[in-house]
Amino acid sequence: DAYLSAIDRANEAINAYVVVTHDRAREMARASDDRIAGGTAGALEGIPLGIKDLFATHGVHTQAASHVLDGFQPRYESTVTANLWHDGAVMLGKLNMDEFAMGSSNETSYYGPVKSPWRRKGSNLDLVPGGSSGGSAAAVAARLCAGATATDTGGSIRQPAAFTGTVGIKPTYGRCSRWGIVAFASSLDQAGPIARDVRDAAIMLKSMASVDDRDTTSVNRPVPDYEAAIGRSVKGLKIGVPKEYRVEGMPDEIETLWQNGIAWLRDAGAEIVDVSLPHTMYALPAYYIVAPAEASSNLARYDGVRYGLRVPGRDVIDMYEKTRAAGFGREVKRRILIGTYVLSAGYYDAYYLKAQKVRTLIKRDFEQVFASGVDALLTPATPSAAFGIADQDMASDPVKMYLNDIFTVTVNMAGLPGIAVPGGLSQEGTPLGLQLIGRPFDEETLFAAAHVVE
Ligand code: GLN
Repeated sequence: DAYLSAIDRANEAINAYVVVTHDRAREMARASDDRIAGGTAGALEGIPLGIKDLFATHGVHTQAASHVLDGFQPRYESTVTANLWHDGAVMLGKLNMDEFAMGSSNETSYYGPVKSPWRRKGSNLDLVPGGSSGGSAAAVAARLCAGATATDTGGSIRQPAAFTGTVGIKPTYGRCSRWGIVAFASSLDQAGPIARDVRDAAIMLKSMASVDDRDTTSVNRPVPDYEAAIGRSVKGLKIGVPKEYRVEGMPDEIETLWQNGIAWLRDAGAEIVDVSLPHTMYALPAYYIVAPAEASSNLARYDGVRYGLRVPGRDVIDMYEKTRAAGFGREVKRRILIGTYVLSAGYYDAYYLKAQKVRTLIKRDFEQVFASGVDALLTPATPSAAFGIADQDMASDPVKMYLNDIFTVTVNMAGLPGIAVPGGLSQEGTPLGLQLIGRPFDEETLFAAAHVVE
């Protein structure tokens, strides 16, 4: 009840929830009470969570913040949310996001932008919460849920966590099932939590992760007790600092943040080593070929027949065209055009195939660093603090928006786990985040090291 009334008071200003499931929340909470009374409480019993609108929730609005999915209420539940409900969690509602998870500022949503609960010192300017999981990050930061589900294709868990002073982890590709999550770029998409602190993130991920027959890329490995990794010493851990992440034009405060993170880990007994990931500079352009290519294919299914919106036409082709023209927003259309172009005959070899080769080189860079005995890497999560809503620079040039993802996309390209953890405040008093990148399926080291930093 406390969370529901907090949402009722604050959501209009923040726009984090697109739907609040009051009745469902109370019903689930009552069932939790019964299980607690009966001594059968699950690991997340009674914990109120917000769910990103990308996760299919049975009988509840699921639109990926797009007009094209108008009125869609799935007859099935995503595996990740089913796992959470199985452990006793309570659903408060569906969270705003960039349309189809495409964006870094949560301004591409059909439901309008999410506003960060943070302000710069002495300023009333509305700041972005980051994207695409901006509703998840803002809701956690504003205490409108105890934790939230999120997804990360190229930074969409870590960048909004960094912008809002929350913790977000993208686990190793395959750790969580993608079944029932609206697909953006299937070879990059992963679910993970955004939470108030590292411990909450560990508890949530344990519940979200599972192997699943319905997602053949999910991995059959036992899910460790991530919470047990918190408090584990980092003494003797080798933490790599990749020099290629010191990008041109990076503000001094980001460099200071990074140096502080290095000092905290060194003081806690970790060994800091300089490393090189030489193909880093190609990650962003390669990502912005691979991700739109997969998106253009995944989004072909929104044709006015199977789901959501249908705009009638003269014939079926005309209906497809009218539905897609009216249903998709500008950024989604841009991705479909880029993706279709790079996959087309004649350009496939020049763009898509090359990007896939670059992807392999990026993955090898990480493999070599980890093979040299490095346990995890420390970088800033983003090249700046949160910017203002309707920032002119970003609005006029999509590439400037894409540059926000420069430190996060490499991790998705290589399928590795990455966590964003608060590392301090900018000169203007807004949050800055550090990122730790780990070996495949070694989320535990990330939780241990992130807990030292937080
Ligand atoms: N900002 C990136 C994009 O727009 C990442 C999105 C994501 O991780 N879902 O593609």
